[in-house]
Amino acid sequence: MLTVDEALAAVLTHAQPRAPRALAIGDALGLVLAEGVRSDIDSPPYDKSLVDGYALVAADLATGECVLVILEEVVAGKVPTKTVRKGFATRIMTGAPIPQGADAVAMFEHSEPISGPVAGIAGGGLGSVRIRARLGAGQNIMTRAAAMKRGDLVVRAVRRIRPGDIGAICEAGRESVSAYPSPSLAVLSTGDELVPIGQFPGPGQIRNSNGPMLVALARSAGAVPLDLGIGRDDKSQLRALMARGLECDVLAISGGVSAGVLDLVPAVLAELGIKQVFHKVHFKPGKPLWFGTLAGPAGDKLVFGLPGNPVSSFVCFELFVRPAIRRLAGDDQALRPLEPARLAGAHTTKGDRPTYHPAHLETREGQFWVQPLRWEGSADLRVLALADALAYFPAGERQYDEGAIIEVYRLS
Ligand code: AMP
Ligand code: MG
Repeated sequence: MLTVDEALAAVLTHAQPRAPRALAIGDALGLVLAEGVRSDIDSPPYDKSLVDGYALVAADLATGECVLVILEEVVAGKVPTKTVRKGFATRIMTGAPIPQGADAVAMFEHSEPISGPVAGIAGGGLGSVRIRARLGAGQNIMTRAAAMKRGDLVVRAVRRIRPGDIGAICEAGRESVSAYPSPSLAVLSTGDELVPIGQFPGPGQIRNSNGPMLVALARSAGAVPLDLGIGRDDKSQLRALMARGLECDVLAISGGVSAGVLDLVPAVLAELGIKQVFHKVHFKPGKPLWFGTLAGPAGDKLVFGLPGNPVSSFVCFELFVRPAIRRLAGDDQALRPLEPARLAGAHTTKGDRPTYHPAHLETREGQFWVQPLRWEGSADLRVLALADALAYFPAGERQYDEGAIIEVYRLS
């Protein structure tokens, strides 16, 4: 039986990123950028005022006070028409271009208008202003290209696109970017005992909790989910639903992969031409995991047969399906590492398999502390609502003291 690391390596060799495409910037959030974006413009494109105030010659304020004749008023979106010389100022709003000759801007807060036109001076109709401030040359001015120059790399590949990146990419003049498209993932929940969530389970029945959970997990990993609903434990029905699911990049099936009489999934997948890569992995919870592939024009399609028990399904998704989705999505950091954490309480293990135990994680003084949660096994869904990490324990009988350093996998 494969170890978790061997199985994961096998999954990842079959998970090749889908070809990048030109995608509208409005649809790019969360996708992985395939090509860096360079600016087609200087930013700012001109020397601009950082405040509302008066553009002036800083030397006029050598004594900390002066009276200046106002030449004109420039708001954002307009351009100045007059050159500022000593003794003059232009009223200017935040973001507007600095007039020629001015080398600083005094804020309105440091000014006091003196009303009435200034006689004998052309354009003196705006009156004059007294300014009390000490300003150095360049103050309150953002010079052209201070943030970035035309041709500068604004967002580097390969990176997941965040809202701030979208702002920077838009300023750089790009309406579309080259990005890896989101992989699609079909979810099929199998089992004669399953009923939809809105239905109260009758004798022997249970709610299909895996379906919606796997759809949510897929979405959280950056895939576009397709919910195929519930498939009965019937070969021909399963075959038809799986064939639909194979139109997606990934097919995740829950249930039917263990050793029960109605565990039909591996046989039906084989009939559909899916090549089995492995069945069963040495860990807990999720040992029955099945994985296979189907060659397709855009790259291998990945098929996961997840154990029906919900906690097993969840853990298998986190350990194997999530990294596969990230890899298909072009992420060069598809693997989430195990991280060190201290045990918040003593803990005993006695399993024959490495175990990923649902746990609560806390940060205290910059360190992770992990508390394994009370857990009644793979069918105990309640624990998932409390867990924000999986605590990793190697196989074997062992007593861990409080404060011992173990490894954890953080859940998103
Ligand atoms: P199986 O892997 O089909 O043998 O199922 C193992 C256990 O998981 C059984 O107790 C099933 O009832 C349960 N199970 C299977 N599918 C689901 C599902 N979609 N939601 C919740 N529990 C499930
Ligand atoms: Mg079943």
